[in-house]
Amino acid sequence: MTKPPLFNRVALIGIGLIGASLSHAMRRAGLVNEIAISTRSQETLDRAEELNLGNFYSTDAGEAVKDADCVILCVPVGASEAVTKKIAPHLKAGAIITDVGSVKCSVIDQIKPHLPEAVHFVPGHPIAGTEYSGPDAGFATLFENRWSILTPLEDTDQEATQAIKALWKGCGSNVSIMAPKHHDLVLAITSHLPHLIAYNIVGTAADLEDDTKSEVIKFSASGFRDFTRIAASDPAMWRDVFLHNREAVLEMLNRFTTDLAELTRYVDEGDGQALFDLFTRTRSIRKGIIDAGQEIDAPDFGRLS
Ligand code: NAP
Repeated sequence: MTKPPLFNRVALIGIGLIGASLSHAMRRAGLVNEIAISTRSQETLDRAEELNLGNFYSTDAGEAVKDADCVILCVPVGASEAVTKKIAPHLKAGAIITDVGSVKCSVIDQIKPHLPEAVHFVPGHPIAGTEYSGPDAGFATLFENRWSILTPLEDTDQEATQAIKALWKGCGSNVSIMAPKHHDLVLAITSHLPHLIAYNIVGTAADLEDDTKSEVIKFSASGFRDFTRIAASDPAMWRDVFLHNREAVLEMLNRFTTDLAELTRYVDEGDGQALFDLFTRTRSIRKGIIDAGQEIDAPDFGRLS
């Protein structure tokens, strides 16, 4: 016997990579009867309709959430407060509101004060993405075998948390629950700092003299190419991440610069043993990620594409 859908109507506010992927994944798994879609521009909304991502479309977010049992905010983290203010008066009593933002403490501070009491708030973040954005970038398997983190608050209704957990599991994701502050610290090192470093190294290359720059592109397969993929990520989304996870990013950046200074010393002093020891340690981290099923064990630097 097939399971009944988790929700009758889900409203997706924002329909880029994550919103569109959720639409595909929820429909594929039969988690929802109807999807209402809202985005701020008519252009993106029209594209979402052409791609048949929902059953109802509006640029008016308040209109889209009216009869929704579950509302998922899929906008850049800096837009969370403005969007919540727009939808709050139209939320149905008993509705669950969740989000997918890459930062949790700031998003909670932006959303929570504006919500009516009768609405349940379950902050969330799928640890899955690509460097592409917009509704065309979405695909049904994005969340498969990835992790989604939920950071419920002390007063969050447990049934609401379980419902959002079931939603992510239905989309193929594993679910982990943690405190918002801990989330922001962990993501600062696993995601935010690597993006900052990639933006920095690609920015440095972009500032090189023209003749050297052309060599950088020609010989990019030697490692640089992997940074350019990360540094091609959406500028608005990432600007907001650094504006809204400032403290945790600065803490990790401090540790990083201390370690980089030490590494600089090893190179300067020709300390081969120290370099070898560090590189041996880092190699085992990669093995751990492969063992955890979060990466495949295939050569990548030599890939043909
Ligand atoms: P995206 O593809 O760029 O889509 C963004 C959506 O938000 C679009 O519908 C866009 O509307 C709307 N939007 C942009 N700025 C807005 C604003 N100021 N006010 C209201 N709406 C606005 O972004 P995404 O990659 O799906 O990311 C959405 C959220 O998911 C972000 O909070 C991000 O932190 C989180 N996230 C992203 C990834 C990733 O790898 N990309 C992974 C995990 C979580 P218009 O197109 O109509 O302007």
